[in-house]
Amino acid sequence: MINVIIAGPRGKMGSEAVNMVTNEENFRLVACLDRKNSGRTLKDLPEFPGLDIPIFEDIDQCFENVEADVLVDLTVPEVGYVHTKKAIENNIRPVIGTTGFTNEQITELNEMAKSKNLGGIIAPNFAVGAVLMMKFSQMAAKYLPDVEILEKHHDNKLDAPSGTAVKTAEMIREAREYKKQGHPDEKETINGARGAELDGMRIHSVRLPGLVAHQEVMFGGAGQTLTIKHDSLNRASFMDGVKLSIEKVFDLNELVYGLENII
Ligand code: NAP
Repeated sequence: MINVIIAGPRGKMGSEAVNMVTNEENFRLVACLDRKNSGRTLKDLPEFPGLDIPIFEDIDQCFENVEADVLVDLTVPEVGYVHTKKAIENNIRPVIGTTGFTNEQITELNEMAKSKNLGGIIAPNFAVGAVLMMKFSQMAAKYLPDVEILEKHHDNKLDAPSGTAVKTAEMIREAREYKKQGHPDEKETINGARGAELDGMRIHSVRLPGLVAHQEVMFGGAGQTLTIKHDSLNRASFMDGVKLSIEKVFDLNELVYGLENII
């Protein structure tokens, strides 16, 4: 039995995670971390009738009161970062879906986990199809190095570009020589028209209500284009990856970044 704490249970991802964890027979939800409702239980909230799971606001108090193996964090980066640090310090394996961590934070957290031989994962995208999109894009970039990334998300998303887009560009960078996309003398007549830049690749972010999480990786070559596209149509698409991560962190002795490391 794997004892799990979920941070951010009222969120769109967090509530899916609560449902997934409570429906898995090998997982036990032992507590939730929530900035509201401290001292109450999940069953006091209208979303979770019947779930007698304690809610804590303070992570130290939570760790003092419950025995946990894994912390799943689905909140915001500032909070997720502190939660991940505290989890590692307390030998609780972090499974982090929160996006927007800086490279420095990821490196620091990785070093902390390594020094404790503790497994963990930070995955900007838990959808298995999205990981395949990234892998296929890395393969394609070897042969078609001209590439631009278009990511589209709901308009409540706080970080841009998306963690998935950055991760995709980083994976492509491993397979592709540096190349600045577009004309060498191009000029933006409106700031930002060409999007963000990573290693010469352009990343364009769209934010609209109605969208969930979508990405197209577009390659161009002489007389041809190739588009690799993935759509998450709802948040259930991420739960297979969260489940797999909760199980796989026990086989790791460091904190890995990206679901592709365990698939
Ligand atoms: P959401 O619906 O806005 O939920 C965010 C949750 O975090 C809410 O419960 C919110 O509580 C809580 N929260 C916000 N600020 C907080 C703070 N200062 N302290 C404590 N809790 C706080 O967002 P979501 O769509 O579920 O996404 C959550 C995170 O997962 C985001 O970082 C998002 O980018 C990421 N995400 C990851 C994946 C993946 O596959 N890895 C997929 C989708 C989203 P309040 O109601 O009190 O604000």
